[in-house]
Amino acid sequence: MKKLSVQDIDLKGVRVLTRVDFNVPMNEAREITDDTRIRASLSTIELIRARGGQIILMSHLGRPKGERVESMSLQPVADRLAELCGAPVRFVPDCVGEEAEAALSTLKEGEIVLLENLRFHSEETANDPQFAAALARWGEVYVNDAFGTAHRAHASTVGVAQHFELRVSGLLMAKELDNLQGLLERPAQPFVAVLGGAKVSGKIEVIENLLDRVDSILIGGGMAFTFFKVHGLEVGASLVEDGLQDTVRGILERAKNSRTRILLPQDVVVSNEFSEKGALKEVLVTDIPENWQGLDIGPRTTKFFAEEIARARTVFWNGPMGVFEMPRFARGTRAIARAIARATEQGARTVVGGGDSVAAVNQLDLADSISHLSTGGGASLELLAGKTLPGVEVLSDVSSSPV
Ligand code: AMP
Repeated sequence: MKKLSVQDIDLKGVRVLTRVDFNVPMNEAREITDDTRIRASLSTIELIRARGGQIILMSHLGRPKGERVESMSLQPVADRLAELCGAPVRFVPDCVGEEAEAALSTLKEGEIVLLENLRFHSEETANDPQFAAALARWGEVYVNDAFGTAHRAHASTVGVAQHFELRVSGLLMAKELDNLQGLLERPAQPFVAVLGGAKVSGKIEVIENLLDRVDSILIGGGMAFTFFKVHGLEVGASLVEDGLQDTVRGILERAKNSRTRILLPQDVVVSNEFSEKGALKEVLVTDIPENWQGLDIGPRTTKFFAEEIARARTVFWNGPMGVFEMPRFARGTRAIARAIARATEQGARTVVGGGDSVAAVNQLDLADSISHLSTGGGASLELLAGKTLPGVEVLSDVSSSPV
């Protein structure tokens, strides 16, 4: 069901309680090292201000586990946001209680308010009804622009929304939903999914939900070795999830029946150590030496995967092809990022989700060459697995809207 967006409602003189995802990385000096998430919320913030709304922002940062932890204060985010918006941002050192009450009672038109880290209160992740009610007092309408936490039923994403007649998606949330749901509803064929990362277990439901929708699934990363094991290959010391072999057998059987191709690596880069220093070899997957482990896809696979991607009209990618944090095992992942950027230039619609894959795209400065980079790894996987996200479900449907 399509959700009502902040664009669809009247905001003049309205207090708009807005959940954003300002969970940005910081260094030890508490400097923000990547402000992508703040920038990603700017269009919603600017729209609310331009339409005369008063904006009250709330977010989490890190995992303070219900304690006030100064290194996880959102104060540096307020400063950066003020710079980016070119407008003052008033920081309120608690998200509920008297201090917030006092600060919000003197809210001026056009002023931006950022509340302190929601997770300084354990009631946030517990979706505590009283805490949700306390947050709800700050606004007259509710906007959720935090796609990255929409798969979690927390007080600021679910409990609070239930107090509002108008609960709408922000522009970023709407863009994420359009792009990701578009992959499930109307993908141009051939649709190629590229999946990698450490484990099959995190991606089973996505594979199952995509099986009938895609032309092929390219599998790289640590995941591939459980598939090889099912095919009876020796994988040395590579990552294998033993308990999942029956599930993988089931997936291969279903793929055969639905004529979906599941394509596995033909060669891999192996090392005798999980480190930057061990010996290295490129071997066929049939020749992985005992005690060596596969840590990247090999050059033959990279070429063959890139060719598959080149003929796709829709591509979804989640998960690195190898241990890309170590430069010597990053080649496969980087080549896939380049292949997807090239496919986009040739007219394919491409969506990349998941922190590692998005990081690889950014490292190569290819962000502008991808149709959509998702800001929520876990949330995007759950959506593609066919699940309903609690933070989305609770938003007003377009048809049931009172406006
Ligand atoms: P995930 O969160 O499941 O997408 O996994 C991401 C992690 O998978 C990254 O930290 C990679 O280093 C790791 N990874 C990718 N390929 C392999 C591999 N062949 N063996 C072990 N870990 C891998």
